[in-house]
Amino acid sequence: MMNGLITILIPSYNEEEVLYKLYERLNEVANSIHRYQFEFLFINDGSTDNTLQILQCIAEIDNRISYISLSRNFGKEAAMLAGLDYAKGQAVVIIDADLQDPPEIIEDMVRFWEEGYDDVYAKRRSRTGETWLKKWTSKSYYNLLGKVTKIPVQENTGDFRLLDRRCIEALKQIRETHRYTKGMFSWIGFNKKEILFDRDLFKIDRFSN
Ligand code: UDP
Ligand code: MG
Repeated sequence: MMNGLITILIPSYNEEEVLYKLYERLNEVANSIHRYQFEFLFINDGSTDNTLQILQCIAEIDNRISYISLSRNFGKEAAMLAGLDYAKGQAVVIIDADLQDPPEIIEDMVRFWEEGYDDVYAKRRSRTGETWLKKWTSKSYYNLLGKVTKIPVQENTGDFRLLDRRCIEALKQIRETHRYTKGMFSWIGFNKKEILFDRDLFKIDRFSN
């Protein structure tokens, strides 16, 4: 662990189309936050496109970038958790590669973290751009989830969040074979803070679904 360092953790599966753009936006955000150093840790989750080649390329020009390349596609949850083992930051921001999570929110996350929150998660205000089917399945999913678990799971939140080192260590302690991270974030407790964001305010470059 390194004090003053923030890790941006990016699970990436076949993201060749968007990686340069993502890097550009992350770079801008990181450069605007002078109080911390940044590490961009990409997890190549067995991509079959040029994701790995692009990562190798940008890692050569920017020493804040590192990557882990998994031997096959394990799924986002596993990729993310593999990344937590390598993250050196005092805080870790988990963000999707496809720019559905606006990187600019990281500034607010860091500010709340400085105020003492351990888990600052971004929640979408609207689900515009999604089909009725996606909205319906999402709603049903959370309804069902509410019935089967006593742990509250925050609705409409993905994994876009900043976690303090304390949370990372707690998550690493949970070594189940099938970890369910949305529940885990909740289960480990700590001081949580929600940030609402409007998808429409940020330019969405690509939808993966
Ligand atoms: N991802 C991954 N492994 C997978 C599927 C997805 O690492 O097997 C990554 C993907 O590159 C993206 C994030 O996880 O950065 C979210 O994936 P996706 O956009 O497909 O999910 P959704 O937007 O539907 O939640
Ligand atoms: Mg997506």
